[in-house]
Parts: sequence; structure tokens; C-alpha cells
Amino acid sequence: MAHSYPSRGGLQSPEGVLLREIQVNLLECKVCFEKFTAQHSERRPQNLSCGHVLCLECIRALSHPLLGRLECPFCRQLCSVDATSHCQALCDLQEMLFFIPACPRVDKEEEVAGVSAKALHRRATFGGWGDLINPSGVTVMRSSGTMFVVHDGVERVVVLGPQGKKQHAFGPRGHASEDVCFAMDVAVTPCGHVVVTDAGDKAVKVFTSRGSHVVTIKACFALPWGVDTDRRGHILVTDVQAGTLSRLKVHYKHGVALEEGVVVSNLQHPKAVSCCACTANTAVMQHLAQDTQQLTVFTEDFHLLYQVDTFALQLMSSVKMSGVTFDTNGHLLVVDSQQGMIWSFGTMQSGPVLTPLVSDQLIRPVGLGALNNTLVVVDAGDHTLKVYS
Ligand SMILES: [Zn+2]
Ligand SMILES: [Zn+2]
Repeated sequence: MAHSYPSRGGLQSPEGVLLREIQVNLLECKVCFEKFTAQHSERRPQNLSCGHVLCLECIRALSHPLLGRLECPFCRQLCSVDATSHCQALCDLQEMLFFIPACPRVDKEEEVAGVSAKALHRRATFGGWGDLINPSGVTVMRSSGTMFVVHDGVERVVVLGPQGKKQHAFGPRGHASEDVCFAMDVAVTPCGHVVVTDAGDKAVKVFTSRGSHVVTIKACFALPWGVDTDRRGHILVTDVQAGTLSRLKVHYKHGVALEEGVVVSNLQHPKAVSCCACTANTAVMQHLAQDTQQLTVFTEDFHLLYQVDTFALQLMSSVKMSGVTFDTNGHLLVVDSQQGMIWSFGTMQSGPVLTPLVSDQLIRPVGLGALNNTLVVVDAGDHTLKVYS
């Protein structure tokens, strides 16, 4: 994604001068004069503990290889490399001021290097700052291929056609029952109702696919997080604080909740949830202590079927699973937000077999949806949806 620096109102206008100041003083690394960008890892802005910002490559170049420390080139404070962190706000400002969205973009077919023959290729990228702001969840409607994304925009739910064209948006930002405060995740029922978990007022909200509010279910959620629907249209919701998985049965036509019940309790910080359309199994991702995630698969009756944690898989401790979905063949796919990868766990019947499906081009993937041979990934790093097949 190339950045251009258009002059708004001319370079000599007060606005143009201010933009130029921002560009030179905030959005470029002051050591190498390269523009900060989320797209290339070495050019990502990093916060030092003193408060100054450098690109990742300059931090590496200036730090002592053994001690893992560097002297800030501006204030001379000694900073630990381990204590640096990604400065997302500068990437967002870069996108906001200087990125002109050209949506949707169809990517050139690129070979993904270094992964197995099962690796997927990126076909398209949708969104970018403005069209999507901090997207957190996606779901794909099986019958039509329509994609529903939740994000931080004025209308919280964005509807995209199968080719990525924005169709409409709904779920206005607000505190009323039919508004959405802070959307965590989104799901769609087989008949096309859209379900959103709202962490703001701790509720599950149901809309028609056109965006009309159907019902808000508050039940007794402490903090609803992940959501999916089963093949009968029942809603499955995790509660990260209560440690539960609940099932809600809704009469969509009358807009009433018929039944609300906890189906699994004693979970540890359950977040992402996915229900398999072919087996009716449900996968829940739990977040245990010390950065270990556990993936648990239950039968349709919520009996424990498989369980695997990142520690048992002896994956590197940097693996951080943040999303889960089943593909059309019943394979379990997970998002690795730390390494920017998508893994397949297979069907788990003879133990998990880890296969990398997507191993680059992702910055901070947080959610995914699958339909047939297509995978849709939410990348919060550059506010996009990336489509692989
Ligand atoms: Zn630099
Ligand atoms: Zn400094």
C-alpha cells in the first residue's frame, strides 16, 4: 500500500504547512527519515520507554546486541529493547491524513514463500482507514457470501458484498438499546439475522441483514465477547468475565428471546467461539495464565471432545491465538495475532496437525471467517479485510 502526501489547500496554506510539519516531525523516523508504516515490519513506529519514537529497524541498528539496550538518540536515556512497544496511534494518523482509500483492491497473485503446498494466496484487500476503523470481527453469510464486519466507525456494522463492495452499514454508535457501544464480535444466522456482542452495555444485539433492530438480550452477561450461531440459528456467546458459554434461542420474527442458558461453565476467560456447520461441534478459545491459550472443542450437546493448548503443542511462546473458525470441511482454523499467521488444526480427530495457511502479509490479524475455499481475515494492524483462497 503506497502512501502519497497530497498537499491539501496548497503547500503554502496554513493547512499545508501544518500537514508538512506533521509529516516530517511525527510520521517519519527521525533517524533514517523513512515514513512510518504498519505495512512493513521494519518501518513500524516503536515507543521507547523515554517516550520517543523510532522505526523498528533503527531500534535494532542502535541497540547493543548482547545487552538489548540502546541510548535514545534524542534524550540519551538508556532504554531496554524489550520495553519498546508498537505505536499504533502514529500508524493510524498516517492512514488518516495521507492514505487515500481505493476500495476494494484486488491484489496481484503472489506466491507465499516458505510454507506448505496448502498455503493460501491473497486475492483482495478491502477497507483501510476510514472505511474500517479498528475492525474486531467478521462473519460470512453462507448462502450469499455477504461479509459483515464490526468496527469502531459511526455505524458499527459494515456490510460488504462477496466482491468486497460496501453495500451498507448499520448499528449506530450510541448507548440506546438499539445502538451499539463497543462491538466485540459478529455472527450471522442461516436465515440472515446479524448478531453483535456489545461490550459497552454488556448485551447481545440482533439486527436484520438490512440493519433493523430485532432484539437486545442483556441476560446476565458480565462481559460478552465472542459470538457465533449454530445451524438452527441459536446464538452461542462467550462471557470472558463469567467464564461461560451461553446459548440463546430467539424468535426472530417476534423479536423475543425464548431461552437463555449457560451450556458450559468454569471456562477460563473464553473469548473466540465458532460453531461448525457440518459437525455442529463448537470450538472455544480460552486464555489461561501466562499467555497460554487453550482450544476446546465440544460436541453438539456440549460434551468435551478435544482440548489442546499452545504449551502442549510446544509452539513458541510468542504464538498468540486470537480468533477461531471452522472451514466448510470441518477443519479448525486459528488466527495467530503475534506472528501474523493463520494455522489449520485439521479435523483434530487424530490429534491436531498444524499447517500454516497464511504466513505473511498480515500485521495484526484478530478475526477470521471461512466460506468454501475462501478465508476472510480481519487485520486490525492496517484496518482491512484480507481475502485468501
Ligand atoms: Zn528509522
Ligand atoms: Zn528519548
